[in-house]
Amino acid sequence: MLNNPVLPERIKRLNELANNLWWSWHSEGQELFRSLDYTLWRASGHNPVQQLREINHDQLLAAAHDSAFLRLYDAVMTAFDRDINSDDTWFQTHNKLPASESIAYFSPEFAIHSSLPIYAGGLGILAGDICKEASDLGIPLVGIGFMYPQGYFHQHISAEGWQEEIYRQLNFNEVPISPIRPTPEGGCGPLVSIELGDRPLHLGAWLVHSGRVRLYLLCCNVEENTYEDRQLCSRLYTADREQRIQQEIALGIGGVRVLRQLGIEPSVWHANEGHTSFMMLERIREQVVKGVSFNDAVQRVQATTIFTTNTPVPAGHDIFPAALVERYFNHYWESLGIDRQTFMKLGQEENGNDQTFNMTVLGMKMADYRNGVSQLHGAVARKMWHGLWPELKEDEVPISHVTNGVHLPTWIAPELNTLFEKYLGRDWLSHHDSPELWQHIMDIPDGELWEVHQLLKRKLTHVVRERAQQRLAEDGVAPQQVLAMGALLDSDILTIGFVRRFTEYKRPTLLFHDVGRLKRIIENRWQPVQIIFSGKSHPADFPSKYLLQRVYSLATGPEFQGRIGFVEDYDMHIAHYLVQGVDIWLNTPRRLQEACGTSGMKASLNGVLHLSVRDGWWHEGYAGNNGWAIGDDAISDRAEQDKDDAEALYRILEEEIIPLYYERDLKGIPHGWIRVLKQAISSLAPVFCARRMMKEYTKRMYLPASRSRDSQS
Ligand SMILES: *Cc1c(COP(=O)(O)O)cnc(C)c1O
Repeated sequence: MLNNPVLPERIKRLNELANNLWWSWHSEGQELFRSLDYTLWRASGHNPVQQLREINHDQLLAAAHDSAFLRLYDAVMTAFDRDINSDDTWFQTHNKLPASESIAYFSPEFAIHSSLPIYAGGLGILAGDICKEASDLGIPLVGIGFMYPQGYFHQHISAEGWQEEIYRQLNFNEVPISPIRPTPEGGCGPLVSIELGDRPLHLGAWLVHSGRVRLYLLCCNVEENTYEDRQLCSRLYTADREQRIQQEIALGIGGVRVLRQLGIEPSVWHANEGHTSFMMLERIREQVVKGVSFNDAVQRVQATTIFTTNTPVPAGHDIFPAALVERYFNHYWESLGIDRQTFMKLGQEENGNDQTFNMTVLGMKMADYRNGVSQLHGAVARKMWHGLWPELKEDEVPISHVTNGVHLPTWIAPELNTLFEKYLGRDWLSHHDSPELWQHIMDIPDGELWEVHQLLKRKLTHVVRERAQQRLAEDGVAPQQVLAMGALLDSDILTIGFVRRFTEYKRPTLLFHDVGRLKRIIENRWQPVQIIFSGKSHPADFPSKYLLQRVYSLATGPEFQGRIGFVEDYDMHIAHYLVQGVDIWLNTPRRLQEACGTSGMKASLNGVLHLSVRDGWWHEGYAGNNGWAIGDDAISDRAEQDKDDAEALYRILEEEIIPLYYERDLKGIPHGWIRVLKQAISSLAPVFCARRMMKEYTKRMYLPASRSRDSQS
């Protein structure tokens, strides 16, 4: 966006389209860039901004005279304009609110598209899907996050199976962002400043367009800052506590100031996880400065704030030493009109540890609307945070739940979209959260559905092999690594995907609990099975790197006959192929530790069947006939639970999944399997989609919160 490529007049809006990620969830938008230059489209990893910079001008001229291309171009631009500008959206027709309303959504990470690698996992995917669905429904959301120029790392695995982390500096010319206040060099100029301990920190911002939704990404890399401060936001989730609190001060306090500076006055504020909780303090300070008492200011902030907690796992909650917080806030509490102790209490539980400051506690206390992210997680969170409301019974603790959902247009395979257009109606996407719509899935002939599924599987195996080949050609990796990367995968074999962040509680090695038994399952001559692994370990999470190493070593060896593949560098791009192209999506968290999980939803709506512990969303999604559940709801000690779950996992594979998959008619079609597949799509897609989720947030939280502001003023 910095140096706009010169485009022929007739197709000059390609640049605007490339810089609005709207194209990424509209198949006609993808088709347009794909047909412009297929090679560059693939080479850039589906990044039109880069594509337009690299394409040669003659090709653009040719496109500007190609009638088929122009027809598509005109159709896409018409659809784009209609979508971005129409005022008959769901939000406007159902919720009589002035157009000036806005909802600020704070999140430490956003996963909108793989060309903008500023996310680590599920939290970012959720935030990205929320932005896109808000755009589709016309919800006036504004996102606030961070631009991390080095983003999250890229992953290579060494011949011995150890994860190598590679940080690449983003080329700002090749990503769909633009500086709010550009410097002559094309960087970010300062918009606001905040106090960081004893020094000022200047912040700029980049703008990302995601359909109608604007996302502002804060940037510390402005000339006015010291060298160290310019690096402050270069990476996501640094392990350094001090850097972490500095980042969170910048996001929370700086984020509020940037919005004000831009003239945006949100009526509702939504905090995604405790990392963003400082924004509540800054809004209290604004009120106090105007002469409102501290207690009244707190009430006003609470009434307009939504706080979402996303994990029961301790590492997901920021807890800072009190001394560290004191260093950065010892002037700030004065500006709130309170003393040290009152301030520190904001981040502490009653009778809890007074030597720490907990960001989740701050969020819980400063928001009237609090939620977990699945039904089961709501209950887990009420138990976990009971200490904040000791006078209430556990089931009365005021934390509810809004179950997550995935943005369906982003995650559905284009080939399935075409099939659904034929059988569910051309405009099926516009009412995809209606359960009635999905009854028509039964009208799709089994053969047609199976053909599409097989095609998606071949696409996946092709991409996996191509990556292995590329690493061989470019980096000269050892032959056994090519094997471990999945070079021998076969698209006709029952394929299980274990694809997720590597972390201890997700138990990536549960499948290997009994290696002999797994080996027998995999090498069955008539009904073989293969497994694809993919996922990153957090750079500081050494136990999980050992688990990854174990999986990789097993994949390099001869004993599994090349039927275990490890796909490096799990990100949104490869996630698309994986959630659309395996047969079984395996999920084995320790019970009650997975707050929700969303990858299984993406898989299910593509007809990839979920085989999962009854945790997170599967606790409410599993209906007996739409996938498989491992174990029951009982909780036993770790070793016991691992043993029982592994046993249940093998049993379901051997007795149910494998026979069902290989039971074919004369044309090779597995009708029994397809029955489950249709059941999965039709029962899960309308419920576990971002559309249902965003309507719920709007009705239950955004609207009541926005009305409470009106009654205050
Ligand atoms: C969907 C997705 C996730 C979240 O997956 P869960 O394991 O279900 O939490 C993480 N990373 C990527 C790249 C994804 O696409």
